[in-house]
Amino acid sequence: MKTRILYVEDNDQNFYLVNYILEANGYEVIRAKDGREGVEIARSVDPRLILLDIQLPVMDGHATARELRTIPALAGVPVVALTSYAMAGDREKALESGCTGYIEKPINPKTFAEEIACHLGNAARGAGPR
Ligand code: MN
Repeated sequence: MKTRILYVEDNDQNFYLVNYILEANGYEVIRAKDGREGVEIARSVDPRLILLDIQLPVMDGHATARELRTIPALAGVPVVALTSYAMAGDREKALESGCTGYIEKPINPKTFAEEIACHLGNAARGAGPR
């Protein structure tokens, strides 16, 4: 069975690139297009990891992460923020909001799958910050 990743992303270009890399590496990807939809879908699809864009319509990534962290069934699920390199403070804020870690945008296609595997591995070992 494929490892399921929920990817909350409003930008189609970003989604296609990340989706392409993840599918090529054997993951199943489910998309939500805004923060509210992300929380709703996260409750129903039992993801192994949630990849979360920060700049999202309706509810931004920080608010979305905080809400995801109130869902007991998702307590052990890593939430990885996609933070913009240009937005100083996004990384710290993402961790404060309950994200497990972050990957900076623009992503590096050569190392992206490895970074995801690392976040999944940390969660499986219970070694993540939370
Ligand atoms: Mn965005």
